[in-house]
Amino acid sequence: MKELVIISGKGGTGKTSVTVSLAALADRPVICDCDVDAADLHLVLEPTIQESHDFRSGHEAVIREADCIGCGICRNVCRFGAIVNNADLFSVDPVACEGCGVCVHFCPQKAIDFPESLCGNWYVSDTRLGPMVHAKLGVAAENSGKLVSLVRAGAKHLAEEENFKTVIVDGPPGIGCPVIASVTGASQVLIVTEPTVSGEHDLERVLSLTRHFHIPTSICVNKWDINEEMTQQIEAKARTAGATVAGRIRYDSSVTRAQIQKKAVVEIDAPSADDLKQLWENLNLQEA
Ligand code: SF4
Ligand code: SF4
Repeated sequence: MKELVIISGKGGTGKTSVTVSLAALADRPVICDCDVDAADLHLVLEPTIQESHDFRSGHEAVIREADCIGCGICRNVCRFGAIVNNADLFSVDPVACEGCGVCVHFCPQKAIDFPESLCGNWYVSDTRLGPMVHAKLGVAAENSGKLVSLVRAGAKHLAEEENFKTVIVDGPPGIGCPVIASVTGASQVLIVTEPTVSGEHDLERVLSLTRHFHIPTSICVNKWDINEEMTQQIEAKARTAGATVAGRIRYDSSVTRAQIQKKAVVEIDAPSADDLKQLWENLNLQEA
């Protein structure tokens, strides 16, 4: 089973649009949306949810009113101002609580519960291009790296159970913990970049990350024709860093048309569809 993770050093390079087209070309892969902080694959693929699972991470203090004697010790020891009171009635503000557990330790009545907090949900869904594993992180919830690992493991498990040959992963932007969680152990990483100074800078950072983890890496420059000189410079840097240049995608106003129609670019009559098909072919040749 091959797992291709598509990432970009930064947002706005067209990564998700490329992911949707590669998923369409892969002939029913398992699709995995690891961009859990700003998930948008579902906008194009309109998944029908088949399974929903809780995502729990960290802990949250909860005062049992019946056992509390209103001594106020918990409020005094909480460094985050998360314990509020109305006279003798003490409670925890769940948004302010950082889950450090200090109040639980110091409460003389042992009146504070410390359950794992619900930070979001992850789903297994059906889409027209194949099954999809995706997630929704709760408002102000953190630890998206852990959720990324969970979603990826769910997609891999599904692929192995049901004999899918390919998992296509839409990774998060940047180079932080969620990106590391999305690429470690992948068969192949594709970095989608753009021919701009910031695109070049971000590509260098993300290339050093994949090199560090020894993951076979390819790049493709999206909208390469808006600055051919910069495209050549980026491709040369990628080769020097040990990555493969898997393709170029031209600037194409049809991409917006595809988004409006909720389709992959390769599903409509678009000039850049040829570039995407060539990219897919090159990625598979590298795997062979
Ligand atoms: S420390 Fe315990 S008993 Fe005292 S106010 Fe807090 S929850 Fe109540
Ligand atoms: S767990 Fe920590 S942050 Fe949360 S209420 Fe208790 S002391 Fe405050």
